[in-house]
Amino acid sequence: MEYDVAVIGGGPGGYVAAIRAAQLGAKVLLIEKEKLGGVCLNRGCIPTKTLLKSAEKWQDLKHCADFGLKAENISFDFAAVMDRKNQVVSRLQAGIMQLLKSNDIEVVYGEAKLAGNSLINVLQPDGEVSFEAKKIILAVGSKAMQLPIIRNDLPGVIDSDQLLALEKVPQSMVVVGAGAVGIEFASILQAFGCEVSIVEMLPTILPTLDADLIKRMGLLLRKSGIKTYVGTKLSNVRGAAGRLEVTVENGAGTQVIVTDNVLVAGGRRPLVDGIGLETTGIEYSRKGIAVNASMETTVKGIYAIGDLTGSYMLAHAASAEGMVAAENAMGGDAVMDYRAVPGCIFTSPELAFVGLTEQEALSQGMEVKSSIFNFAANCKAISMGETDGLVKIVADGVSGKIIGMHIMGPHASDLIMEGVIAIQNGLTAKDIAHCIHPHPSLSETVMESAHGVYGDIIHQAKLKMRK
Ligand SMILES: Cc1cc2nc3c(=O)[nH]c(=O)nc-3n(C[C@H](O)[C@H](O)[C@H](O)COP(=O)(O)OP(=O)(O)OC[C@H]3O[C@@H](n4cnc5c(N)ncnc54)[C@H](O)[C@@H]3O)c2cc1C
Repeated sequence: MEYDVAVIGGGPGGYVAAIRAAQLGAKVLLIEKEKLGGVCLNRGCIPTKTLLKSAEKWQDLKHCADFGLKAENISFDFAAVMDRKNQVVSRLQAGIMQLLKSNDIEVVYGEAKLAGNSLINVLQPDGEVSFEAKKIILAVGSKAMQLPIIRNDLPGVIDSDQLLALEKVPQSMVVVGAGAVGIEFASILQAFGCEVSIVEMLPTILPTLDADLIKRMGLLLRKSGIKTYVGTKLSNVRGAAGRLEVTVENGAGTQVIVTDNVLVAGGRRPLVDGIGLETTGIEYSRKGIAVNASMETTVKGIYAIGDLTGSYMLAHAASAEGMVAAENAMGGDAVMDYRAVPGCIFTSPELAFVGLTEQEALSQGMEVKSSIFNFAANCKAISMGETDGLVKIVADGVSGKIIGMHIMGPHASDLIMEGVIAIQNGLTAKDIAHCIHPHPSLSETVMESAHGVYGDIIHQAKLKMRK
């Protein structure tokens, strides 16, 4: 049978594309090698955030006396923590299955490989089956990058997949890589009592973030007891689980860190191998598949979305690209608009950002007005006992339009949506400042920061105008 649209890969890019195509009337086939939900649901966004919630609740319990509460003989059961994480994943997986079923999408399990521009072979345990489709959406995602210096078969050296399957909290962990994934895991492990060190070759943690966020987060990590070695080269890892010796080199010389485990969190790369791209005319490299703004590859009728394109490597970007690809596969003329893609890092407190950092805007020769408002001056944050953090707004000094928003603080991943809407719609700081925000709420931090762009912060004793 020929399908209107075949989607290869059932992650947040692929399953969303499948549903959108079905909503538009297509007969859709979705092929998945492992489990629906992809990396995001099974080994990424959801399990990490579920563990982080347990870690936060544990910290709340330990510090409940700050709220006038008493708890004695408290402890945690890590197996139960992991069990809850698995239950959350299963529940969401069942939800996706239900959605696909209700949209009459046929789901086939097996490893798909293109055999030309409209034929797909799927390897299953009992042999190979072939499917034909008028349009194909490729959404097979990415895989973890290996670091050449570390033998990943060394007992005790683990990746994020293995970390999410740990049975107990290690006493110590060296996290290699201070990007979002490394910092999130460091924060979860530390909250559960693991002694964590982070080794990063670049001069700072989270190098793509605004300098003010990096500085605050660096301070907070140190305060929490996490050791950060930035500008530090990893030169050797030897030993075995329980006693690995990690040799690092930086300006201060050479040092050996002894640790139970090493977590390699060095980024991901698009999964372009083994999916039969060579049987098509699709242009691709190790950095991903080339697509145009319609998410179409260099072969008409074949689209690529999500991590496979190597662009944003974020679940919400994959889903947005999936919608665009599906609409175009069904004869539409949708284009991807990347003006305001938010990024979030789920530490405690969270980090969230959208648009340009102040440093990027200045390096582009822009005239910039920026403003910072601290959570320490927000009633709701004080009542919650969560005052670490800030909202920084970066505005175009000429037009006043918001060009960047950078938040560290409680619920930053929700608050950032004001920045997304502002940038996407060309709003100015005044547009945000003049919206009445509810009181007491964390969103008042965004309003106050927006006022600050023009020097009018109410709840700040001394005006903090920056440039
Ligand atoms: C630890 C970790 C935490 C993360 N946290 C976040 C977060 O908080 N927020 C966020 O936005 N992003 C996060 N990410 C990134 C996010 O998971 C990815 O950007 C997202 O999953 C990409 O979606 P995708 O649909 O492109 O690919 P994937 O989710 O990788 O899905 C691809 C699917 O294709 C299947 N597949 C592969 N090859 C084949 C084949 N040949 N045939 C059939 N099926 C195939 C795979 O089994 C998989 O199910 C995190 C990643 C990691 C590793």
